[in-house]
Amino acid sequence: MKTLRLVLGDQLNQQHSWFNKVDDNAVYLMAEMRQETDYVKHHIQKVTAFFLAMRSFKDDLEGKGHRFIYLDIGNDRNPQKLEELIHQTLEDIGAEKFEYQLPDEYRLDVQLKAICAALPVPTAAVDTEHFYTQREELAQFFKGKKQLVMESFYRMMRKKHDIMMVNGQPDGGKWNYDQSNRKKWKGNPGIPQEKGFKKEVGSLLAEIRTAGATTFGHIDEDQFSWPTSRADCLSVLDHFCQELLVHFGDYQDAMHTRQKYLFHSRLSFAMNSKILSPKEVIDKVLEHYYAHTEHIAISQVEGFVRQILGWREYMRGIYWKEMPGYAHLNKLENHHPLPDFFWTGNTKMNCLKHAIGQSLTDAYAHHIQRLMVIGNYALLTQVDPDQVDAWYLGVYIDAIEWVEITNTRGMSQFADGGIVATKPYVSSANYINKMGNYCSGCAYKHTQKVGEDACPFNALYWNFLDAKKEHFKDNNRMAMMMNLLHKKDKAELQELKERAQDIMENPDRF
Ligand code: FAD
Ligand code: SF4
Repeated sequence: MKTLRLVLGDQLNQQHSWFNKVDDNAVYLMAEMRQETDYVKHHIQKVTAFFLAMRSFKDDLEGKGHRFIYLDIGNDRNPQKLEELIHQTLEDIGAEKFEYQLPDEYRLDVQLKAICAALPVPTAAVDTEHFYTQREELAQFFKGKKQLVMESFYRMMRKKHDIMMVNGQPDGGKWNYDQSNRKKWKGNPGIPQEKGFKKEVGSLLAEIRTAGATTFGHIDEDQFSWPTSRADCLSVLDHFCQELLVHFGDYQDAMHTRQKYLFHSRLSFAMNSKILSPKEVIDKVLEHYYAHTEHIAISQVEGFVRQILGWREYMRGIYWKEMPGYAHLNKLENHHPLPDFFWTGNTKMNCLKHAIGQSLTDAYAHHIQRLMVIGNYALLTQVDPDQVDAWYLGVYIDAIEWVEITNTRGMSQFADGGIVATKPYVSSANYINKMGNYCSGCAYKHTQKVGEDACPFNALYWNFLDAKKEHFKDNNRMAMMMNLLHKKDKAELQELKERAQDIMENPDRF
């Protein structure tokens, strides 16, 4: 039976059983669609990376004998919409069956179910064979529990998949080395030269522009440096194991004006597009670690495994448990607009200038920049989570809704009221100064709370606690912060609140 099989742009898993052997009856369909470039405004590097990765995937598999129909964004026959694309291709090739891999986005899941319901041929959906968990596994694991806890999910995953376990106990005797993952980077140890690529992407950019897709952000036409083929991604993984893993855990939370990537792997695009599987990443990292235990401490490795086996799978499980309602949650009732400087990086606040500036030039910021600088500021200034989400979904190379929204709306903005995080991730300048060197080059003084030179984060922090105190009155994890708030001198608090009001009303002046 001639079968049409759809492959979406984030389903680039060459190890999928569909491709185990060449099936003469199967035709694979891929298209670069305006539907996907336009559902939110995207960074140009993100669109470029996905299209390059899709083309490379198709070339690799065509080279092995699989048959593809691939429509570039500029192709005249590209309807730019999924429904028309499937109908048109089914008719063109006279397929008698339609198959697709389960999408990871709710939006596409709904759309594909609706399309299939109206097709004149039998249809089937198969797993992507990418994640460790099934969509519903987290919901099953926490069934009947009031609070979801990442740590218990993570321990279950370690045991179930026998990862870093010795005789049923965690290797090294501890499950979690989070406490040792908090060093500030002060120039040492040296950071190996980044594994970048210098791809020429001028002609693809011209195709994207001619097709009319609206994007933002910076791109170097002849120095595109993200890994987009399977070979590139494997070499970045190898570079991480050889050069970066040894210090990954120590400096996981560090920030520095001259080092954008520090010891981070930059593997999120490779995994989220499914070019690499989380299992092969973890297996490779552990293989390297166990061969070099005399040089690499377990805390460096456990920190990395926890992000992928723990957080990444956890966020996906929460997404499928909570969608579609999750996308509309705004439990803290925040309604301010996103400041203009999120689109330019033009602000006197040095931490934001660097973290946002880097996001716009590189489509990348690491976790703590996303959480404790940009997200912290958005939450303290009470920005509408819809606008925060749209920005994060557009700007980062690795942003796909299942992992973006749970991190942004959940972990960072606490708009879910505590499903992902048990308390909001907010801080004054103190934390930013502790973890990086932004404050030393800033127009503001991180130790000062009020006055023109005072760091805006300080006034915003106390104002936020005061403004949202009703929301936190029953939250045990906020009790200490609330106690400090209640003990604050009334006149000082009033002064902080007035300054915070000024910052929130005039964000682009600060
Ligand atoms: P590394 O620091 O090298 O970590 C290794 C891998 O662990 C990452 O590649 C990623 O796959 C995984 N990982 C680490 N933290 C998380 C996490 N919290 N959730 C899920 N996976 C994690 N990650 C995305 O992949 N897409 C997003 O859209 C995204 N949006 C985020 C938004 C906010 C507000 C925050 C706080 C975090 C977000 N993250 C997102 C998580 C994390 O910041 C990125 O995965 C990481 O910065 C990617 O860089 P890296 O590959 O160098 O990561
Ligand atoms: Fe950011 Fe405040 Fe430090 Fe400036 S002083 S870098 S605004 S935390």
